Amino acid sequence: MSGLFAFHGGLKTVRHKSESNQRPIQLSALSERLVVPLRQHIGAIAKPLVQAGERVLKGQLIGQPDGYISAAVHAPSSGTVLAVDQQPVPHPSGLPDWCVTLETDGEERWIEREPVAYQTLHHSAVRNLLRAAGVVGLGGAAFPSAVKLNLSGRSERLGTLILNGAECEPWITCDDRLMRERAAGIVAGLRIMVHLLDPREVLIGIEDDKPEAIAALNAACAGTGYRVRSVPTRYPSGSVKQLVKLLTGKETPVDGLPVDVGVQCFNVATAYAVHRAIDCGEPMLSRIVTVTGRVRRPQNFEALLGTPFAELIAQSGGYQDGVERLIMGGPMMGFALYDDRVPLTKAANCILAAGIENLTPEQPALPCIRCGACADVCPADLLPQQLYWHARAKEFDKAQDYHLFSCIECGCCSYVCPSRIPLVQFYRYAKNEIWAQEKEKQKAELARQRHQARLERLEREKREREAKLRQKAPPRADAPAEKSSVETAVARAKAAAPAAAEAAETPAAND
Ligand code: SF4
Ligand code: SF4
Repeated sequence: MSGLFAFHGGLKTVRHKSESNQRPIQLSALSERLVVPLRQHIGAIAKPLVQAGERVLKGQLIGQPDGYISAAVHAPSSGTVLAVDQQPVPHPSGLPDWCVTLETDGEERWIEREPVAYQTLHHSAVRNLLRAAGVVGLGGAAFPSAVKLNLSGRSERLGTLILNGAECEPWITCDDRLMRERAAGIVAGLRIMVHLLDPREVLIGIEDDKPEAIAALNAACAGTGYRVRSVPTRYPSGSVKQLVKLLTGKETPVDGLPVDVGVQCFNVATAYAVHRAIDCGEPMLSRIVTVTGRVRRPQNFEALLGTPFAELIAQSGGYQDGVERLIMGGPMMGFALYDDRVPLTKAANCILAAGIENLTPEQPALPCIRCGACADVCPADLLPQQLYWHARAKEFDKAQDYHLFSCIECGCCSYVCPSRIPLVQFYRYAKNEIWAQEKEKQKAELARQRHQARLERLEREKREREAKLRQKAPPRADAPAEKSSVETAVARAKAAAPAAAEAAETPAAND
């Protein structure tokens, strides 16, 4: 731990890395049909740009980002668009989402690729290229990278840029293999990030159970000044706030981001994607994914986005007996899938065919005995049992008072709970309820604003109608202007009357 700073809590988990990290990354076979979700990122869903029947090239833009927090989507291979409709996608809700389904032609015909000398471009132009390439964080969050690489509003220079190669989930090895095999590409991407962010220092954090990856990155970083730091193998060291604490000693504020304490953090695979986008002119079309657990030949694949999970499992030799659950992500932070026909997305780092031995046995939960074990391991320094009580009692305000949204759903508390309470499920339930209530509130506010706008419009139209009517109306007898002309006429007549009478009485002297 020399030069490192321990974070609170965490666990030693049973490691299952060697099952999948012994073989090199394998290029997955091209699927006949790719189902490409238009929402593979945090933010607004991309707008489809193609229709059924259209021919597309590999790398062609098929979904345009809709807003600042959104990401572009590209055709992972050449072929014909079969449909733009809702399809099953890997999401905890199990709900379908909008996708572009592509029949591949096997020719892999590319768009024109243009590598860029980023040093000659303005920073915003480089970020626009990354945005156009659909680059998002590949550590699981899938946040648009161009947004994180824009710190132009900050008054202070960034203190530390961290590359996250910790990969602490017990079964996942895609980053490990990427670091071993493509360290130069990762460092090339890191250079581009450094160019955009201009940090004072650059650190690469890797858990000490990956000696080959550490050696490869050390060799690739020679002469750059970037420092590779080996961190203890302790879950969840790869969680952003925990890695920031480990490497810099800085505590990210409860409701804040690392950048609030002068640190920005990216996954190693994101750096590699940045390199491909800028140095090779290739949009994000594929990712490395670990297929492991109860499959015959656990393996890391470089697979095109949209490839069905079932095909990747088949290329891993198929299922072994005894698969209890298919999980996307690791057993600690991943979620169960309802179907293996869902497509690979940018966020999908692992497909785990879990056996009963890999799952917490489903036994009835016992009452909480207030032992405090959950608080001891909570890396976010929360009070998990309090969160549990309030989530269970639907006291969502109180749960938020106990910083529910600082919970990173790492599962450490559930893992150690002697009463086998599925604590994380309660937190997810409470968060979903709060989001649903917030959505309802926003909907009600929108409806109120619309109603108000309608009333104002009707009132305005009424006033305009009345004004028009007034302009068109014939003069009225009692109108002040008319009255004055009558009065004028009467006065004129009165003035003329005495002269007329005098004339009538005088003889015509000149007749
Ligand atoms: S570990 Fe389980 S039993 Fe112990 S305090 Fe936490 S919730 Fe209660
Ligand atoms: S799941 Fe949440 S409450 Fe439980 S240990 Fe992790 S951060 Fe703490």
